[in-house]
Amino acid sequence: MVAALNLPRGTARNQVTTIKCRDHTFELNAKQEAFLAHARARKMPFAYFDCQSCSRSVKLELSTDKSAQSAPLGRCPVAGCAGWVVDISDIVVDSTPKRWGCGACSTTWIDDKSLFAAVKDIIRKFPHRAAVYVRKGSGWAGVSLSGEPRDYVAQVEREKLK
Ligand SMILES: [Zn+2]
Ligand SMILES: [Zn+2]
Repeated sequence: MVAALNLPRGTARNQVTTIKCRDHTFELNAKQEAFLAHARARKMPFAYFDCQSCSRSVKLELSTDKSAQSAPLGRCPVAGCAGWVVDISDIVVDSTPKRWGCGACSTTWIDDKSLFAAVKDIIRKFPHRAAVYVRKGSGWAGVSLSGEPRDYVAQVEREKLK
């Protein structure tokens, strides 16, 4: 039995971070660990990870340093992925600067234009996606977690079957 570590610090134990959703305890996989390291380096206030048992999004509080915080922009526009898009402009990925990234599927977007094009595409392909994005200027932003359909994650899961 692995005891869940307290969320606020998200303490790594032998490189494995244990996170607790309401009903389950899970260890981050390698991709999630890599994203967490990036998130810490970026001093992001929090990061979301999908529970590996129920796909519920679990918010992990990371930093209380208000001077360098970056909130998620919104949901990841990749089919079958219910992750979150975050600003990774301070992080070098594959030696090319990227603007946005998703910690769940590791997709990156080089700039706003490429991300917004991906959002447009996913809404065209899966109209239920329109519920989690709002128009913002010439682009898109995410609605708040409480504004999302309750079964959003389940809807996204079903995209994998299409
Ligand atoms: Zn769970
Ligand atoms: Zn993703």
